[in-house]
Amino acid sequence: MPEFQNILDNICAQAKTTHDKGKVASYIPQLACMDINKFGIALLDQNGVLYSAGDTKDKFSIQSISKVLTLSLAFELLGEQLWNRVGVEPSGDPFNHLSLLEQENGKPRNPLINAGAIVVADVLVSQLRNPKQDLLEYVRKIAHDPTIAYDKSVAKSEKETGFRNYAAAYLIKSFGNLENEVETVLDFYFHQCSLSMSCEQLAYTFYVFANRGKCLKQTSYLNLSQVKRINAIMLSCGFYDEAGEFAYEVGLPGKSGVGGGIVAVHPNSFSVAAWSPGLNEKGNSKLGLQALEKLTTESGLSIF
Ligand code: GLN
Repeated sequence: MPEFQNILDNICAQAKTTHDKGKVASYIPQLACMDINKFGIALLDQNGVLYSAGDTKDKFSIQSISKVLTLSLAFELLGEQLWNRVGVEPSGDPFNHLSLLEQENGKPRNPLINAGAIVVADVLVSQLRNPKQDLLEYVRKIAHDPTIAYDKSVAKSEKETGFRNYAAAYLIKSFGNLENEVETVLDFYFHQCSLSMSCEQLAYTFYVFANRGKCLKQTSYLNLSQVKRINAIMLSCGFYDEAGEFAYEVGLPGKSGVGGGIVAVHPNSFSVAAWSPGLNEKGNSKLGLQALEKLTTESGLSIF
């Protein structure tokens, strides 16, 4: 077993002294006030032992990382039918691009770009009795943590400024691929993005994708086939137009968010979450990517 704690301590020490940390996302005003000097990394191994270094208990907005959780719940509810509404191909485009959506008749390329996540949100709004509350309960259950909550100020901030998401939703609606009202779907989407969690909470939550669909208490949420598919989608689409780079440098299925978080899993081995609010030009955490590259290089544990 690699010396996870030593590796994480080294990664953290290096990150804390790196000067070029990227830029905090400012297009969602509430995110602009994050402290760029924060850094944390938490890893949960297959036996449920947690290793952590840095600011791993600080909560941040998980943003697009939430797309994996809504995908997982929608997949559980709809099964393979979900793919009638959204595809599974990488887009090679930034997360908020609209051009392919127009070309492909309102069926988003994959569930991890904004357009695809909006369709998944629409599925959940249709399927769940109390969509926002039910999603929250689902996340709390897989994480075994009843304290996980939405950050209403982030949701509000995005609602006031998320014009591209409105554009995407209306375009999807114009093609008949949105069942509910745009406002309702986006209210749900902005809330899912505002989920506020720490690196440690994310490592616990994503254990389910590292552990064949079962959470730490061995309750099953996804079957083997579903977990294989979600991990495959994370690998090919989790970093938008930087997915190839992430596979090349890190070699794990993963997902980023503009709050600076990145999660990744090594099936049957560990789940890991890193956080550094500064982003690179593709909207992925700059030091988070470097941290995970170091982790897989030094531990020798990638999926390849
Ligand atoms: N809430 C953000 C948006 O829709 C999520 C984007 C992200 O994390 N990449 O723009």
